[in-house]
Amino acid sequence: MRTAIVADRVFDGTKNLGRKVVVLADGLIEAIMERVPEGTEVIDAPGTTLLPGLIDAHVHTDVNGLRMALQFGVTTELEMQGVNTARDRDHIMQNDSLADVRSAGFGLTPPGGHPEELFPKDFRPERGSGGRGGGLAARPRVDPIVRAKVTSPEEAISVVQQLAGAGSDYIKFMVDDGTVEGHPGLPMLDQATLNAGVAEARRLGMTTIAHALTLDATRMSIEAGIDGLAHLFMDRPHTPEIVDAIAQSNTFVVACVVLNASMMGITGAPLADDPRVASKLSKEWDETLRSSFNRFPQGSLQDVLNTLRALDEAGVDLLIGTDVSQPLPFLGGLAHGASVHQELQHFVDAGLAPTKVLSSATEVTARRFGLTDRGTIAVGQRADLLLVDGDPTIAISDTLNIRDVWRRGTRAGRFEHAVSVPN
Ligand SMILES: [Zn+2]
Repeated sequence: MRTAIVADRVFDGTKNLGRKVVVLADGLIEAIMERVPEGTEVIDAPGTTLLPGLIDAHVHTDVNGLRMALQFGVTTELEMQGVNTARDRDHIMQNDSLADVRSAGFGLTPPGGHPEELFPKDFRPERGSGGRGGGLAARPRVDPIVRAKVTSPEEAISVVQQLAGAGSDYIKFMVDDGTVEGHPGLPMLDQATLNAGVAEARRLGMTTIAHALTLDATRMSIEAGIDGLAHLFMDRPHTPEIVDAIAQSNTFVVACVVLNASMMGITGAPLADDPRVASKLSKEWDETLRSSFNRFPQGSLQDVLNTLRALDEAGVDLLIGTDVSQPLPFLGGLAHGASVHQELQHFVDAGLAPTKVLSSATEVTARRFGLTDRGTIAVGQRADLLLVDGDPTIAISDTLNIRDVWRRGTRAGRFEHAVSVPN
């Protein structure tokens, strides 16, 4: 059976093609045409825009998170530390009621290093994990091989090899001295260990990503030859030197402005109040979204937005990510899928054009992570699609006017959105 979607606008991952008919067959995009072909089921959708399914390039997830993400038009989540998705990988890949996933497995960090400081001392992983074994905190279930901690270049090389062998899709490095989490002096990878791990990953042909929340950690990561940064530093304003270093090294940046905002104590309450979001949130996710990390209240969100704009003007590839994880208030201000839309709005607030921002959640991410079968609307690509009312190439918040989502050509469910859009 073929399906023809007729949309007033088709955003193909880089530009608005205008009114087109997009034909789906066997989970793929079969044709992009001017007229509806014979023998197809037709979805005539006046007033809509069809987009590639969105990609969240920084999550910690599980089956519940992936289900929620898909409802918000996020058809792929890229996990930056976690274990559940590795265990459930085959099931997830074949289940069209969930977003697809890729995972780093565990990130390299020294004993006692990030992210251990984020968890309350009395925190027990089984609490608040939805009963299915919670993401990054599910210690008892974790394969000890991929949890190996590193303190030397030799260990870093060994762990990278083990992660690659255990099925990690890319290699994540934690470069964090605890400055912005209120834990100064946290054990942290040194430059030689980071260099050795990145070099080994490169030798194995794997993409490398660094968790770096400070300007110094960002500089260290670039020095090591990292491919991408999983965060945008938030401890101080940017300098011409750091912008130039990121641009010259062709490093991509998953900005996670929503995480930086949460670290500064800014909650997701306005997003949770949006009826287009509220209707899809469970009670525990509503509470989580209305909370925040609140670790670095002295930070400046305007500095972060200024840095984002400077990187854009320098030609840096900027990716949409959130750092969403579990429904726990101390990891709050974020919710699967929903926060992607807020991140898009932050990018526009920083001064980026809406079409460029939509690329940051689709084409750019697919290209930088080697996901060649998605991120664009083109013949032969996976039919991972998002249909929204309105025109997000002009008004970015229209991405939340979700009408339909397809994952591998399977309609994930029709979403009524007969609600007015709050200003
Ligand atoms: Zn993270």
